[in-house]
Formats: sequence, structure tokens, C-alpha cells
Amino acid sequence: MAVPFRRTSKTAKRKRRTHYKLQVPGMVTCPNCGEMKLAHRVCKECGTYKGKEVVND
Ligand SMILES: [Zn+2]
Repeated sequence: MAVPFRRTSKTAKRKRRTHYKLQVPGMVTCPNCGEMKLAHRVCKECGTYKGKEVVND
């Protein structure tokens, strides 16, 4: 089994981990109500999709 030639320094490890992000992917703002919603899905706040109301509630 291959073994790393050098131990990864604290700095190298931390620099690599700067790319780790905690976020929900595919979130966009609704053009109708401005709430965050999932892309390509009906807005759960106002029930619209592409500017038309598709869910009455
Ligand atoms: Zn909305």
C-alpha cells in the first residue's frame, strides 16, 4: 500500500478545507414573493411557478 511521503501540515490541511462549505444547493429567490425556494420547483410560500399561481392554498 502506498504511504504519503510527507505528513500534511496543519496549514495545508486547513487550506484544503477552506473549500468545504455548508450550504443548501439549488436555492434561488422566488421572483413573486422573494423567499428562498428550490430551483425548478413550485414556491412553497406563494405556490407559484414561472409567474403563475399553480397551487391554491
Ligand atoms: Zn414565492
